[in-house]
Amino acid sequence: MPKILIPTPLRQYVDKRDSVELSGGTVGEVLGALTSQYAELKHHLYNEEGRLRSFVNVYVNDEDIRYLSKDATPVKDGDTITIVPSIAGGSAGVAAPLETEALNKDEILRYSRHLIMPEVGMEGQLKLKQAKVLLVGTGGLGAPLGMYLAAAGIGRIGLVDFDVVDFTNLQRQVIHGTKDVGRKKLDSAADTMLDINPHIRIDKFEVALTSENALDILKDYDLVIDGTDNFPTRYLVNDACVLLGKPNVYGSIFRFEGQATVFAYQGGPCYRCLYPEPPPPGLVPSCAEGGVLGILPGTVGLIQATEAVKLILGIGEPLVGRLLLYDALAMRFRELKLRRNPECPVCGDHPTVTKLIDYQQFCGVPKPVSTSGDMDVTEVKAKLDRGDRFTFIDVREPHEYRICKIAGTRLIPLGDLPRRVNELDPADEIVVHCKSGVRSGKAVDFLKSAGFANSRNMAGGILAWSDKIDPTVPKY
Ligand code: ZN
Repeated sequence: MPKILIPTPLRQYVDKRDSVELSGGTVGEVLGALTSQYAELKHHLYNEEGRLRSFVNVYVNDEDIRYLSKDATPVKDGDTITIVPSIAGGSAGVAAPLETEALNKDEILRYSRHLIMPEVGMEGQLKLKQAKVLLVGTGGLGAPLGMYLAAAGIGRIGLVDFDVVDFTNLQRQVIHGTKDVGRKKLDSAADTMLDINPHIRIDKFEVALTSENALDILKDYDLVIDGTDNFPTRYLVNDACVLLGKPNVYGSIFRFEGQATVFAYQGGPCYRCLYPEPPPPGLVPSCAEGGVLGILPGTVGLIQATEAVKLILGIGEPLVGRLLLYDALAMRFRELKLRRNPECPVCGDHPTVTKLIDYQQFCGVPKPVSTSGDMDVTEVKAKLDRGDRFTFIDVREPHEYRICKIAGTRLIPLGDLPRRVNELDPADEIVVHCKSGVRSGKAVDFLKSAGFANSRNMAGGILAWSDKIDPTVPKY
């Protein structure tokens, strides 16, 4: 008969024996015989679904069968089955199953300041370790979130991002360093997090979250943290969380102001209860267009991290039904009451949105601006070199003009254009540029509608100028 070697911690359940001989043709059959003879052993070896617990390894003779056929592995007389529960010491490698039912000695030391607080303690720290949190975005909000959630010992953290680190990120996305510029944000973020805490597992999703993949990605996590920067993804994350019944820890930032709350939790409101409709495209500038104080996402991201940890621990008063507004310039927090809207199309009493929709369309994201009439930077340069007579307008803001400018341009910020349009001659040829070509595209639309038929947009803005014409023009 095959022999089963019983490890010391489990001998108390098998009459203090160090080995047991039982018949069976496979590992599953032998262990089945063992646990039916010693019933108490069963829940130490198997989880509720009847699978071997993640921290129990089983060897047949010298072979680790975890990655083989496991229970179906055949055994014969004279074989030795060894049960090896993980013990203190060492750290979980990337592929190794994460032990989530106990803390080892290193972890006890690491989490000491949590363990001595009665509100967390060993029980709470194990809850954190067993928690599965999905972080959508590893940018401004995701950076502090990822670092502190890793440090706090959240056992499994999913990251969704498909972006690459660039120099303009470093002013606030502190999870990435200068050496990471050009790397995938996912890799850079995961490296930082695992350096902070090797006792966690990170799942990387190098995708844009879409209606097609969102439910599949979100379903394995206990809660979702929204660290995105665009409306379509915010509505997508919201709807997916409501449909799956997962809390959605929300934060948003703009210039000096932030918002945070917890949506879709215990009957509380969702993002659509707060904002049933997205703003028209272009009305609310993104951080790339409007700027953001580098420290702001730190403050707001850490409010989200705090809420996530409270939800996992089940302590305190969650930020549910309350919208926290933060004004960094005034250094003031305010709180608004939020109520679930019974008419909400997603979480209301009679929901009309029962599956994910096309969020790009819902948010009216414009198709790429028509670039048919656009002028390439090389064409503009040739005109300047030839001494062609035309009016060259820069529609950026004065503070951007101070960063860099193209010689020969006239500054008329987009917002001032309607008031100052009489400074221009409708008979002239007009070329308009901005930073990247979006605002100047709007300016050209306006000019044409105002009778300046011969107006054209310089494609790619001053960034393209810096790339193709004059590299001494700084990019920002
Ligand atoms: Zn709602």
